[in-house]
Amino acid sequence: MAGPLNAKVIIARCSKTKKTFGIRIEQRQNDWVSTWAFKIDEKKAKHEGFHAGLVTGTMKAADGYPGCPHCRSKDLFFCLKEADGCGNIGCYDGRHGQYYTCPWCGLRCKTVESNIVDVSGGNL
Ligand SMILES: [Zn+2]
Ligand SMILES: [Zn+2]
Repeated sequence: MAGPLNAKVIIARCSKTKKTFGIRIEQRQNDWVSTWAFKIDEKKAKHEGFHAGLVTGTMKAADGYPGCPHCRSKDLFFCLKEADGCGNIGCYDGRHGQYYTCPWCGLRCKTVESNIVDVSGGNL
């Protein structure tokens, strides 16, 4: 693969515990691939320059992606700004088409699969 590896850490929140966690993602062709997740508190995340928010493209979990460090869910919920959401990411239990409450803004909406609409990740 040509060019430097484009990798970021984005911040998500656990839908069950409301605790934050970081997700390391890297760009492979047009996809973002989540490769790792780790517990981090929100203050430290801000200090490190990690941001809540999304990236452009689609996102997949890499083989070996450990899932949310708080509840082990491997699926991510994207709170879409188009749907009056906050644009943040949370973990969820992976059932599509169900109502889900965003752990950031409290918006209730139906889950959709891997729609990622905005850019703001902290650089590694
Ligand atoms: Zn979780
Ligand atoms: Zn939200």
